[in-house]
Amino acid sequence: MAQNVFLDIIAGKIPCDKVYEDDDVFAFRDLNPAAPTHVLIVPKKPIATLNDLTDDDAALVGRMLLAAQKIAAHEGLTTRGYRTVFNCNEDAGQTVFQIHLHLLGGREMTWPPG
Ligand code: 5GP
Repeated sequence: MAQNVFLDIIAGKIPCDKVYEDDDVFAFRDLNPAAPTHVLIVPKKPIATLNDLTDDDAALVGRMLLAAQKIAAHEGLTTRGYRTVFNCNEDAGQTVFQIHLHLLGGREMTWPPG
């Protein structure tokens, strides 16, 4: 898979505001936050889009969600709540082709999303 900005961030080639890391997952604050808390949770394994996930990635996706839960707790969002979003391909507005879970919180959200 082609290198991309998130893999470069994980490799330490591009600076970021890191908030979490474990063996499988790396998380950092979005450069253009859409909410007071806006964190991107990224697997270290290169995977371009949700369409590229396989059964072998089931545990990895679970670890991404558990990382979101931990970060949300650390940010004080557990009770008021937060939103998690995966964008897949053009219609959803995916711009970086390394899967990432958006964690958004700290303000009231509307539904449906734009
Ligand atoms: P997507 O639209 O692909 O779901 O989300 C990509 C997100 O990555 C956007 O919210 C964008 O602001 C963020 N982003 C893009 N480049 C960088 C970067 O170099 N550093 C950080 N921290 N965030 C980035």
